[in-house]
Amino acid sequence: MIYLDHAAATPVSDKVLEAMRPYFSVDFFNPSAAYLPAKKVATDYEAAKGAIAHAIGAKASDLVITAGATEANNLAFTVINTCSALYLETEHESVRAVAKAYGGVAVKVLANGLIDLNDLKTKITDGTQLISISLANNELGTIQPLAEVAAIIRDVKINRMKRGIKTRLLLHSDASQALNLLDINVSRLGVDLLTLNAAKVYGPKGVGALYVSHDAKIKPLTLGGGQEKGLRSGTENVPGVIGFAKAVELAKEHLNGNRKKYAGWRKILLSELKDYELINKKHCLDNFVVVSFEGLDAERLIFLLEEKGVYVATGAACAASKGEKSHALKAIGLSNEQIAGSLRLTMGETNNETQIHEVAKIINEVVAKERTRLTK
Ligand code: PLP
Repeated sequence: MIYLDHAAATPVSDKVLEAMRPYFSVDFFNPSAAYLPAKKVATDYEAAKGAIAHAIGAKASDLVITAGATEANNLAFTVINTCSALYLETEHESVRAVAKAYGGVAVKVLANGLIDLNDLKTKITDGTQLISISLANNELGTIQPLAEVAAIIRDVKINRMKRGIKTRLLLHSDASQALNLLDINVSRLGVDLLTLNAAKVYGPKGVGALYVSHDAKIKPLTLGGGQEKGLRSGTENVPGVIGFAKAVELAKEHLNGNRKKYAGWRKILLSELKDYELINKKHCLDNFVVVSFEGLDAERLIFLLEEKGVYVATGAACAASKGEKSHALKAIGLSNEQIAGSLRLTMGETNNETQIHEVAKIINEVVAKERTRLTK
């Protein structure tokens, strides 16, 4: 098997599983319980939260643990009092859907996938309370210039202050895809809210976190036992958070090495693949390659590649499962034919260089066969 869909899911690494294991059995106690072994679990849980927070330049008390990135994204939007939000049109569905529910307005992207900063500036009104822009896009891997967005927000805030307008303006970023490949620091990025996802960094699925700055006041989506300072009630997912912390630690440790490795593999793919159009040319995560084989049907290619043991994706895995065309590829101005023939290859820890050469060869063979079939 050659798996090139690490943007959809990553396997839990052995070291992560090992770190989690005791918390399913010997250290199973509810962290809220009063006896000593439970207090040890509570301490370990807080330390794990601290390690995750530290990796993004924050403190444990700044994080709210969630059941994945979808929940964290939804939680971020609770900062809004009245309906006024902006979101990037290429965002993951978990941002788009909640943004729309809050009356959100989409900000355009340029043909290279980067945010259209002029469009952003014209769409910010005195009522805008939240702007949501992912750090790295899940379909193209595009890395957005968040610091530039934060600078625009700063100017808007100063201008509002001068005019006595009290409405707060916050910046949220979904960093689900980026944690593994970028050095993230919340202060440097200038974000008030940041979504993290363990499932994309060789940690467990269904575990995520929302970084919340002092300026941002979120409201709970779940009411109950008052865990996570009352912001996310429900018994803590101790093994999940311990695993998340270990995954983050490993990601940080291998960040530079991995980036170099994936950039090298990306070059190999781009030079060995034939008869394709590169869609994500620049400003993207090193492990993302999006190519279009115009005139071909990517759904069919995926099926033919699977027969040869190669697993890849068309656009976002969740959009594909709903049979919808990728909204992100549409947003950057691709034609229906280009979108229909697009494959997303996302490299990761299950791969090696031999596989990358092999996958280029297999894709070339499958594509050539398809083109021959269609011309007959
Ligand atoms: N945000 C981004 C950028 C993603 O890639 C994903 C998952 O694909 C999510 C949010 C949703 O994550 P989850 O399904 O773990 O809630």
